[in-house]
Amino acid sequence: MVVLDTEFFRRWMSATAAAVDREAGRLTELDSAIGDADHGSNLQRGFAAVAAALDEEPPGTPGAVLALAGRQLISTVGGASGPLYGTLLRRTGKALGDGGEVTPEQLAGALRAGVDAVAQLGGAKAGDKTMLDALIPAVGALGQSLSFGAARAAADEGALATVPLRAHKGRASYLGDRSIGHQDPGATSSALLIGALADTVG
Ligand code: ADP
Ligand code: MG
Ligand code: MG
Repeated sequence: MVVLDTEFFRRWMSATAAAVDREAGRLTELDSAIGDADHGSNLQRGFAAVAAALDEEPPGTPGAVLALAGRQLISTVGGASGPLYGTLLRRTGKALGDGGEVTPEQLAGALRAGVDAVAQLGGAKAGDKTMLDALIPAVGALGQSLSFGAARAAADEGALATVPLRAHKGRASYLGDRSIGHQDPGATSSALLIGALADTVG
């Protein structure tokens, strides 16, 4: 049986930081089309702070890793995505409790709680052209199959499927119909987060 320990969660966060670094230019380019051209730099700053904090004071449980990561994102990212990703990780971490090991099933349930908290905080729903359009299908696929590869595929597909949507939340919504035809930056970075999870499982 697969069990995910504290080190696994630390590696997931550093894999996310590396993916965000690698794709920062693309995230910012997507945000320049329908936002204010800072999504890549926002997340680069945020996940660099996450990686540094996890090195400085390594937490002792999976839940504490995600809680610390969430706090760092909230305090270092000025944009909308900071509180939203921060809430996702904090709420997921809280739902994991304080055990030292987590099953894929437990992680699937905890991520579901995290995604629900993002929806509640931001008031967005599926189809509003936000990060939720990658996260909702990803947690759905993970819950159903307990396959991290399936979660990654669902997140990638969800991010791509934001292209024809009109934005109803966040800065992109100010553009109205002009937001149509562009991939949502936050859905794209959410696919990186889920992709990093699948990579970490191996
Ligand atoms: P800002 O828009 O403040 O500059 P970012 O550029 O870092 O922040 O993040 C923009 C992304 O945040 C969007 O692409 C979208 O996916 C996500 N987002 C914005 N508002 C919401 C919301 N209310 N609910 C969910 N996601 C949102
Ligand atoms: Mg922006
Ligand atoms: Mg901004």
